[in-house]
Amino acid sequence: MKLNMFIDGSWQGGGTNQTRQIVNPANGEIIAEAAEGTTSDVNYAISIAKKTFESGIWSEKPAEERAEVLLKIAQKIDEKQEELAKLETLDNGKTLREASYDMSDAANCFRYYAGLILAPHGETYQVPDHMQAMVVREPIGVCGLIVPWNYPLLMSVWKLAPALAAGNTVVYKPSEVTPVTPVKLFEIFEEVGLPRGVANLVMGEGKVVGHAIAESHDVDMVSFTGGTETGRHIMRTAAGNMKKVSLELGGKSPNIIFADSDFETAVDYALFGIYAGAGQVCSAGSRILVEESIQEAFISRFVERAKKIKVGPGLNPDSEMGPLVSEEHMKKVLRYIKIGQEEGAELASGGYRIVDEGYDKGYFVAPTVFIHTTPDMRIVQEEIFGPVVVIQTFKDENEAIKLANDTKYGLAGGVFTQDAAKAMRVIKKVRAGITWVNTYHGTYNEAPWHGYKQSGIGSSLGTYGLDEFLEIKQINFNL
Ligand code: NAD
Repeated sequence: MKLNMFIDGSWQGGGTNQTRQIVNPANGEIIAEAAEGTTSDVNYAISIAKKTFESGIWSEKPAEERAEVLLKIAQKIDEKQEELAKLETLDNGKTLREASYDMSDAANCFRYYAGLILAPHGETYQVPDHMQAMVVREPIGVCGLIVPWNYPLLMSVWKLAPALAAGNTVVYKPSEVTPVTPVKLFEIFEEVGLPRGVANLVMGEGKVVGHAIAESHDVDMVSFTGGTETGRHIMRTAAGNMKKVSLELGGKSPNIIFADSDFETAVDYALFGIYAGAGQVCSAGSRILVEESIQEAFISRFVERAKKIKVGPGLNPDSEMGPLVSEEHMKKVLRYIKIGQEEGAELASGGYRIVDEGYDKGYFVAPTVFIHTTPDMRIVQEEIFGPVVVIQTFKDENEAIKLANDTKYGLAGGVFTQDAAKAMRVIKKVRAGITWVNTYHGTYNEAPWHGYKQSGIGSSLGTYGLDEFLEIKQINFNL
């Protein structure tokens, strides 16, 4: 499969004709060759996006007509769901079941923003001096969208759907590791007749292609999802023309299990919280905080269940957890496991690469559990982004809250208890933007996805996610 960039409505290779091999993480086989973009490819795409924005062909189109295009995109994603899910599994490694959910979430996200853009928005005020003040919202202009590899299509859609609904033009860059379904999405854009130049796809190395997007003075906003360090770099780079920056970054989220929780429910969601997507989920519940009085029972049940998780190729219907996305990422995760052991934490389960026959060419890591950890350990503080959980214990509510917030991140968190008042007291004190009580990982188009502290700036999804891609203007009318 050859994957090209899509600029000004035409498919093209990179300026230097170089390509990058795209690998199936379940067996190391090459599944595609992707065009490798250069800075000049990016600048060309930006110039097209700018010209197209200024032409008004999309930005001034009635919202109803833009919504109609978005609905057609949603329909096509649904029609191609099976094919797209399979490609996502081949490229990213996640199980087919997980990929299928992502595809239907992606279609629904386009539907949600097609509806939202038609909702009334704007205000008028009768202000002093015989003036009528109006507040209107307008598209920002050229939006640079940069996304990671863990949800190749869905993370893209969380940006593309609201950015396009709002009337912007975009220059979009998928992760260089997972460009397959993003290319398929742009084929859908072409099929449904999104005007040329509105959505432009560039591919390649973050330090080159992503950097050029963040740096350009012709880009009015950059919306980024990825690691906190990359986010910091993007913020600095974007400062040149003070473009608006929206960042969805990393996490090290706590899952707080009280003794009075429904035990099996807590175990189920704690497992799901860390091992969904093989732990490569920004909101992963990668720190389990368990009340001391139930620690033995909880750890023993959790470990027993973790050992039973069926790890295997995502396309295999029996697999419950797929491989890690790449060899490089697997090595990073294995390095963290070694660091944990060196720091003195105890491995209660997993901790190794699975190299049984049929698995040895893939990047499979066993579900891993560390116990006897202390808050200062690197494995407790740093985002590992793999199937590795650390278990900590606490004596009371105050200690649970203190430990939960003892991190530079503030993305997500969960609380398990049957005492509703306690659940509310604790969750309100957790300094994170996405929280769950007696459940974990549910994500809804209506509710904003938002990080506190070093987990981000701005929001995705909901009305907040649309506002990210809009400017507000006051018009004061002399009556
Ligand atoms: P990453 O930061 O390495 O890369 C993300 C994107 O940025 C890629 O497209 C990459 O090519 C690009 N990039 C890399 N260096 C760049 C640079 N110097 N300038 C501009 N662009 C650059 O992240 P990753 O490894 O792809 O993804 C994993 C990270 O994403 C984790 O930290 C995870 O928590 C985070 N994430 C956050 C959310 C959220 O909503 N908060 C969602 C998904 C993933």
